[in-house]
Amino acid sequence: MSQDVTLKAVRDWDANDGLRQFRERFTIPENMIYLDGNSLGPAPKSALAALEHAAHAEWGQDLIRSWNSAGWFELPLKLGDQVGALVGADKGQIAVCDSTSINIFKALSAAASLRPDRKVIVAEGASFPTDLYIAEGFVASQPQLSLKLQGVDGDTIEELLSPDVGVVLLNHVNYRSGYLHDMKAMTARIQAAGALVVWDLCHSAGALDVQLDDCNADFAVGCTYKYINGGPGAPAFIYVAQRHQAQARQPLSGWWGHARPFAFEQQYEAAPAIARFLCGTQPILSMQSLNGALEAWQGVNMADLRSKSLALTDLFINLVEERCKNFGLQLITPRKHEERGSQVGFTHPHAYEVMQALIADGVVGDFRAPDVLRFGFTPLYISFEDVWNAVEVLRDVLSTERWKEPRFASKNAVT
Ligand SMILES: *Cc1c(COP(=O)(O)O)cnc(C)c1O
Repeated sequence: MSQDVTLKAVRDWDANDGLRQFRERFTIPENMIYLDGNSLGPAPKSALAALEHAAHAEWGQDLIRSWNSAGWFELPLKLGDQVGALVGADKGQIAVCDSTSINIFKALSAAASLRPDRKVIVAEGASFPTDLYIAEGFVASQPQLSLKLQGVDGDTIEELLSPDVGVVLLNHVNYRSGYLHDMKAMTARIQAAGALVVWDLCHSAGALDVQLDDCNADFAVGCTYKYINGGPGAPAFIYVAQRHQAQARQPLSGWWGHARPFAFEQQYEAAPAIARFLCGTQPILSMQSLNGALEAWQGVNMADLRSKSLALTDLFINLVEERCKNFGLQLITPRKHEERGSQVGFTHPHAYEVMQALIADGVVGDFRAPDVLRFGFTPLYISFEDVWNAVEVLRDVLSTERWKEPRFASKNAVT
């Protein structure tokens, strides 16, 4: 197909793109092609306005009254329902709170407490590291439990699903390769083996048509600062299926998860539903930024989003393979649509330097150690022509070997 793609064809796709108008809702710097919305989403104009209002009016003027008058106290569950609309969850099953790392801890603990007779937690060796670190820390706090990793203790998740497995923690889309699990099939397999599943949606929430309820998921977590565009460090979310809420317990039993926080009672009593997954006071300015960011999602059809995402990643893969041949790039992202998230990764022996040179030319992706060039495709503000132009810059960086300039070799703390 790629031989036939012309700039004119690409412009026609943009002209016929039903999601085209959404780009207006974002602040994107001039002369930048931003292919890193899978790491930090750009600022929706509505989020900047919400932040400004929260800072000046709610905090600046109304002060403590804003807990009630601006609805601060209700934000975790109100925003949870709104995030739920993006990930296929009915109301009352998601709380927006804390970080993904903390929510993984809560979800693993709660899931393990529902399978008290089973001693093994399974995760993927290729998970985003915090998932593994948290699982390791959780298991260390529970001497009866142990952790088994796919890729280390067995080749596949299925192979590891022995009768002593209580919980399986999976990354819906792999942060490095972009590999996408079949959520429905995996959930069914895990449940058939008597275990519960915790899905980490960091690289799928806001990027594809996630259907938590329809897939019968047990627990899920995810962040809001990537594809959901909530702002740097915006709070994460946790999903607990309705059917587990009455029994599920999480160990961070802070006052916001109490049945009556303002009764100031001496003993903890968990709130009846999803609120028991809260812990303490939340970062309200970040919450309000997310609140504003969610306005930018109004009217977005997630199935359309997914179709355009696949068209963008198909185009990128085809153009790179056609134009950047013989420069040492190797695709690590699945070609099959049903196995691909919304990002594309290529390895290159000098991936770090190549990415720095791309960024200097306004094509912003990121580098993942040891050798991955990673590009995220976000259908609300990336056009087909952006993809075309990004590949032109990549070809130029590789063919001129500009990446060899010494300035591109100095390492930053955040890659
Ligand atoms: C980005 C990401 C996280 C981030 O966790 P934080 O607690 O927000 O730092 C966790 N898991 C996955 C899979 C991620 O991609």
